[in-house]
Parts: sequence; structure tokens; C-alpha cells
Amino acid sequence: MSKPLVAVVGRPNVGKSTFFNRVVGRRVAIVEDTPGVTRDRIYAEAEWMGIHFALIDTGGIEPASAEVIPAQMREQAQIAMDTADVILFMTDGKAGLTADDREVANMLRKTGKPVVLAVNKIDTAALPDDFYDFYELGIGEPLPLSSANMLGIGDILDALVGEFPKDADTEEDDSIKIAVIGKPNVGKSSFVNAITGENRVIVSNIAGTTRDSIDTPVEIDGVKYTLIDTAGIRRKSKVNENIEKYSVIRAVAAIERCDVCLLMIDAVEGITEQDKKIAGVAHEAGKGIVVVVNKWDLIEKDSHTMNQFQKTIDAEMTFMSYAPSIFISVEEKQRVKNVIELARAVSENRAMRVPTGQLNSLISDAVLMKQPPSDKGKRLKIYYAAQVGVKPPLFSFKINSRPLMHFSYARYLENKIREAYGFEGTSIKFVFREKG
Ligand code: GDP
Ligand code: GDP
Repeated sequence: MSKPLVAVVGRPNVGKSTFFNRVVGRRVAIVEDTPGVTRDRIYAEAEWMGIHFALIDTGGIEPASAEVIPAQMREQAQIAMDTADVILFMTDGKAGLTADDREVANMLRKTGKPVVLAVNKIDTAALPDDFYDFYELGIGEPLPLSSANMLGIGDILDALVGEFPKDADTEEDDSIKIAVIGKPNVGKSSFVNAITGENRVIVSNIAGTTRDSIDTPVEIDGVKYTLIDTAGIRRKSKVNENIEKYSVIRAVAAIERCDVCLLMIDAVEGITEQDKKIAGVAHEAGKGIVVVVNKWDLIEKDSHTMNQFQKTIDAEMTFMSYAPSIFISVEEKQRVKNVIELARAVSENRAMRVPTGQLNSLISDAVLMKQPPSDKGKRLKIYYAAQVGVKPPLFSFKINSRPLMHFSYARYLENKIREAYGFEGTSIKFVFREKG
């Protein structure tokens, strides 16, 4: 069985994302100079007292607008009920009990899933009189919480952990996580079945699981993987409208927790807008990416066909030219295993570290070969470079002036690093610091 999943549900502004960020720890800042790349996360892995679990903030899925709140809350509650093992229902102790709270409680009560009721914004030890109103919801004892002041968080986490399924896997997991992403009918399930049919499945997944994706742990040539298949649930979900939106939400949640994303494309249909959107999410999140073109058996081929298709991919997804492509047919069992080998290589590239000495001599050589840009007589100087992070690889450069570091020169340096070290399948990020 996979990691327990806790969904946080509640009205806008009750403090869900504050709680989420407190539990998950410091928000992972995506270090990049482009504004607007730091996104709120809707899915994160967390740990409490050595117990590993996953947290999904259903409120972060969509920005709220006043008129749609009741509908939106029903939707959130629905997602939570479909996907979670335990639901954290968050209310606002300052605002008191509201009609919307009652409505959500009614829905949650019917699921049979365990619900923990938190009353947030209780910032002092004394409980307000109307705190006791929350008992009326009929979903158990309300627990006081102040997410802002970090009060009561431990009690909430204890209560959540106490409701985890007994057979849940709460160990830290060191397998390579591969998310299989793509539009309905591209062959995601067929692919996962082909892999699991030929290899040892470590623990089979529970039939009828209602998680937002199905995790299959599998061992291939002595290496542990977890295949995250986002296809299975869609068919089981009662929610038929907004299929497209739901499949994007699920894709995003799966991407957030993977190491490598297999972006599966239908050879006949080619690359669609939705494929590009999902590729963009994986790229921004700094995940490993492999473009898998499936149903290659359906294409009439000559010796140019693969090159032509590759050109289309390059043209449509210029922002991830580092991602390798592979052309497969699950139906004819063509190159299916090579996909896993490629994903493994990409996952290793994502974790690769370049020694500082080597990096600095590479950069000095690069600077000698191509003069850095200058402006009004002042030339860019690079004093020092170091790789300061992995997954994705992050390089820090100490320079004399940030405005002098043109995009094109950064791109040149990236190409030099890639020429020497490859980093195939992973984005690499740069941060430039001025010498103080
Ligand atoms: P969400 O819409 O449910 O995700 O709510 P947010 O986490 O964005 O919080 C909404 C507002 O409530 C923000 O201004 C928070 O600073 C504030 N807030 C969150 N937790 C607490 C708390 O424990 N006490 C108080 N007083 N304010 C809080
Ligand atoms: P999912 O919705 O992405 O999980 O797609 P499925 O795995 O359910 O596959 C959708 C359909 O495509 C099924 O009818 C499969 O048999 C078919 N299919 C999958 N892979 C291939 C392939 O490589 N070639 C052909 N011709 N059909 C395929």
C-alpha cells in the first residue's frame, strides 16, 4: 500500500495554506530570476515523528471567487473524499461556525472516511465561548489550532496519524518515482501493465483504491521504482464533468511527487495544447522529463519519420530541449523496457554533482572562448561558480553585476555545462549573486 494521503478541506481564508506550509516546512523557493515562477504547492510529502505521509491542499487547486465558494467547496470536498485516506476539515474559530461549514460537514460525514476537525485561529490558550458550537457538526471533537502561532499543530498531526490505515506504508521511500502523464487513451495504463507484467511487483496495489493515482512499486534489474499511474482513477470517479480539469489536477499532483515524468504522447494525434501545458508544469517543477511517443506501430514510416517527429517535438516544446524522446509501441512491446532505462539515467542525471574545481576550470575556458557581454565599458566578470543543489541541479555564480549577465550568455554557459556533463532529461537552474 502507498503513503497515507491527508486532504485539507475548508472555506477560503480559514488558514489551510498556512497550516500546509507549517507542516511541510519552508516553502521550496524556486530560485530563478523570472518573476512568477514560485507557485503554491498543492501536494507535498511530510513527516511527523518518523511517520511519512502526503498532504494535499484542495483549496490551492483553484483561486476562490466569492460567488463560487459553495460550489467550489463541494468540489474540494469531493476531491478529498475521492482521494484521501484521512480528511482534515479546517474551520475558522474567529469567524465561528458558518452555514458553509455545516454543508461540508454533511458531505464529509457520508464518506465514512475519518475526518479530523480543526478550529484554526485560536491564537491564545483561552477558548472562545462559541468554540463549543463546532461540536454541532457531528464529526467529533474540535481541536483548537493556531497555524499562525504554531499552537496545536502537534495535536492535529497526532490525530491524523492515529487515523492512518493500519497497513499504510509510512516508511521513507527511496525508489525512483516515475509519473506516467498524458491525455486519456494515450496508453498510460497499458504501459504500466506491460512493465508490471514482466517484472516483480513488490507490493501489489489494493484493488479499488480511490487515490488520485495508483502507485505500483516494482523492481527492475535490482533497482526499485514506483510507477505513478494517473489513468486508473479517472474511470472510477463519479465526477464526469470537468474531466479535462481533473486530469490536469491529477497530473500536477503526480508531477509534484515524482523524480521523472514520462510525458506520453499519441503518435497519431501529435502534440496537443494539454501536452504542452503538462510539460511546462514538469519543467517548472524541475523534474526529469522523458517524452514517450506511443503507438508508433500505427504510423506509416520511412527512414525520415522519426527525425521529422523529433523536429516537431523540438519546435513545440523549445523550453525543454534537454528532454530525450523515445518512440515506442506498448502494443507490440517495442522499446518499452528502454523507457525505464532512460528514466533511470535521467534520474541519475538529476542527482549528479559537478565538483567545484572542474566546474570553475570549465567556466574559465568558456569565458576565454567567448567574451562575456559588456555595457558602457563595463564587462561581466565571473569570479566563482559552484553547484549548490541537486534535483534539479542548481548552479550559483558569483559575478560583478547581474544586469550584465544576459540571457544569451547564461544560455551559452548552460550549453557548455551540458556539453561536458550531459544532464540529459533534467533542467538545470542558475542563480547569480553579485559580489558584495
Ligand atoms: P486558506 O485560504 O484557507 O489557504 O487560508 P490562508 O492560509 O491563506 O490564510 C488566510 C488568512 O488567515 C491569512 O491572512 C493568514 O495569515 C491568516 N491565518 C492563518 N492562520 C491563522 C491563525 O492561526 N491565526 C490567525 N489569527 N490568522 C491566521
Ligand atoms: P490510458 O487512458 O492513457 O491509460 O490509455 P490505455 O492504456 O487505456 O490505452 C488506450 C487504448 O490504446 C487501448 O485500447 C490500448 O489497447 C491502446 N494502445 C495502447 N498502447 C498502444 C500502442 O502502442 N499501439 C496501439 N495501436 N494501441 C495502443
